[in-house]
Amino acid sequence: MKAVIYCRVSTKEQAEKGYSLEGQEDACRKFAAQQGFEVDRIFMERGESAKTQDRTELKNLAQYCALNKKKISVLIIWKYDRLARNLADQTDLLKVFGTLGIRILSVTENNEDTAVGKMIRNIIGTFAQFENDVKSERTTNGMRQAIQQGRWCWRAPFGYKQSRDLNNKPLITPAEDSKHVIKAFQLFETGLHRQIEIVQKLRKAGVKKANPNFMNRLLTNPLYAGLIECKWFPGYINAIHEPIITQDTFFKAQQLLTGKKVSLMPRGRNHPDFPLRRFMRCPKCDGKLTGAWSTGRNKKKYAHYHCFTKGCSYNVRKAVLESAFFEYLKSFQPRPDILNLFEKIVIDVWKAQQSEQIKEELRVEKELKALQEKQNRIDKLMIEGTFSEEAYKRNSEDLKNQILMKQIELNEVKIDLNDVEACLNYCKFFVSNLAQLWASSEVDLRQRFQSLVFPDKIYYEKGTFRTTGTALIFKQLAAKSPEELNLVAPTGFEPVFDG
Ligand SMILES: [Zn+2]
Repeated sequence: MKAVIYCRVSTKEQAEKGYSLEGQEDACRKFAAQQGFEVDRIFMERGESAKTQDRTELKNLAQYCALNKKKISVLIIWKYDRLARNLADQTDLLKVFGTLGIRILSVTENNEDTAVGKMIRNIIGTFAQFENDVKSERTTNGMRQAIQQGRWCWRAPFGYKQSRDLNNKPLITPAEDSKHVIKAFQLFETGLHRQIEIVQKLRKAGVKKANPNFMNRLLTNPLYAGLIECKWFPGYINAIHEPIITQDTFFKAQQLLTGKKVSLMPRGRNHPDFPLRRFMRCPKCDGKLTGAWSTGRNKKKYAHYHCFTKGCSYNVRKAVLESAFFEYLKSFQPRPDILNLFEKIVIDVWKAQQSEQIKEELRVEKELKALQEKQNRIDKLMIEGTFSEEAYKRNSEDLKNQILMKQIELNEVKIDLNDVEACLNYCKFFVSNLAQLWASSEVDLRQRFQSLVFPDKIYYEKGTFRTTGTALIFKQLAAKSPEELNLVAPTGFEPVFDG
């Protein structure tokens, strides 16, 4: 009678005596000789974990047995759990070999094909499974505990590296790359850069893997702010690793990501030395000022703004005009109490207007549905052959665009209170840091700021500014006392976002 032998060890067992593949093979061969079987073939599974489903040799064994069931009488294994660690799998395998008429004999366990024998096999299988479960539970519990203590136990994200603390426990620490993470958040939190622009900046700085997906993962990862978010626990857990950005920055970024789009995009290139060029007007002739460098008598270079009109001599030093403008912007930064009151009023009005908004949402939804139905009809005509391919293309492309636009519109009317709050928070940040934002920005942004606050004409003469129009919000927020803040319908915050 012929026998096949199947041996398998997990990596861990290999180190232990008597568990080695060779040891198993030896024991199986001896067992076969004792029982009077001739060994036909040996299947050896090398270095696989108990959990690995993909056991090639076991598959080969099953295939071989199916093809040679007539000549094979028994399958010899060292222990039942060699076949499968999971009770259900083991029972299935026993059944498979049972239907082939091949008996399975374990070298180290009871082989009685009696009720008791079967039960013992079941119990062995159960224990093998129990052991497996305990192992994975131990790992999970360990991780849970680590997370609860604020220890991140998975891979370190970009900007961090894996290291160990004094007790040799895993700890992530800021890596060289962290400067790129900081830069990305700094740029993003201003609300003035699109993610794709930040991606480009990072790529330029040598972060090859930067792409929109990468950027989104980066900006939404609370680990950078020293917070752990994990499905096992609600909310955030304070992490023990060193944060590389503040929580304030992180949450500001989240508001920008989830709130209404509030970023202001560039319109064109401008001379970096003269942000007020073509913005300030000549108080004498109303012409737009331009900027230039010139060399003085002492050969020192100095910059100034001057009127472009022929014959007009208006001229002001760059340093003088810009620092005066900075101070002027500062005067538009509202008092905190005014700002808080403004926020309350806006939210109240918003709540009152909610019913209007719902109506609007329903209208857009209805229109979208109508467009989609139209698309369905066209598709049907195409399928029926009523439409030529060309006619279909012509009709369908336009319709698809319309549907897309409608979907965007719907997204835009669907603003919930959180969005409004996010929006307001950004607005507050913007108006209270107006001058600093202007001073620290690049020229394109500066120009957009300027025209946002002063959408109309602005003049500088004899140390003071004169304007023909200031954005509504700044007029309203310039109130000297809460009583002065007379807002009936505070639509004034909109220009900030539309700009
Ligand atoms: Zn002039």
